[in-house]
Amino acid sequence: MRAENEQILAKPGHDTGAMLSVHGLKKVYRSKKDADVEAVRNLTFDLRPGELACLVGPSGSGKTTLLRCISGLLEPTAGEVRLGGKLVTGPPKGMAVVFQEYGRSLYPWMTVKANVELPLKNARMPKDQRNELVETALQSVGLAHVPRSYPWQLSGGMQQRVAIARAVAFQPEVLLMDEPFAAVDAQTRADLEDLIRSVWASLGVTILFVTHDIDESVYLGERVIMLSSSPTVIQDDLVIDLPADRDQLTTRSLPRFAELRAHVYEQIQIAKHAAQGNSIETPGESEQQWP
Ligand code: ADP
Ligand code: MG
Repeated sequence: MRAENEQILAKPGHDTGAMLSVHGLKKVYRSKKDADVEAVRNLTFDLRPGELACLVGPSGSGKTTLLRCISGLLEPTAGEVRLGGKLVTGPPKGMAVVFQEYGRSLYPWMTVKANVELPLKNARMPKDQRNELVETALQSVGLAHVPRSYPWQLSGGMQQRVAIARAVAFQPEVLLMDEPFAAVDAQTRADLEDLIRSVWASLGVTILFVTHDIDESVYLGERVIMLSSSPTVIQDDLVIDLPADRDQLTTRSLPRFAELRAHVYEQIQIAKHAAQGNSIETPGESEQQWP
């Protein structure tokens, strides 16, 4: 009886065993000059420890806003975010974020090694341990040969790999990635997708990977959470029941891959048309975002 009561009294997101819990999240950007923008209306989802979930949604649907709220950089207008049951009120310790604009996230005056090492230094980790983690992380992204180069000496794809190495070396409990491969070429992108899968498998980290690419979400995730167009709610939440051992050629040519891809595509179409019915979305804009 007591246990039952406790369960009823427990607030959502508490004691659920979730690593990351987003409950009733709403974000309205308020401005004195312009009209308010409701970027996110009402989002609720949990990630269990070690889960790799992808979040897809059209451009402007509030993906970056959501990640900024999760990483404690923005205060939600309503609702809450919990990490390991603890309310997020500022940047949490065990979280790393990889943004789309790698060019701006690396320090140009620091070498590759120094960039990757910085969060570990800030955490006052002893030098030996730092060196070992940086070396392993650079190896895992295939950049062990350029520790003394500067970011501006590297290609875009390599710079993004440095940003990923920095996140990996930090050994976060939760890794958030905001369209991290949007600006890299197709071949590098495929390599980086496989890198994320292998880092995830070896570290057991919980990953929320944001993308507007339907194929990428299905290839990478154990689960795909689909956002509607603005005003943003969760349109669908799909388990990706593909074999865990994924391969760019084999996995993408499985009939099940095509089925899952079609499902995500359909849901996005439904969301898009619902939003257009509400005449909230700018006509024509979404046509460029979704094939
Ligand atoms: P996405 O990452 O899915 O493209 P964003 O989270 O960047 O979406 O943006 C969601 C909505 O919020 C958009 O309409 C965008 O114009 C608006 N927005 C984002 N940042 C701000 C801000 N700082 N001030 C006002 N509106 C914003
Ligand atoms: Mg964005």
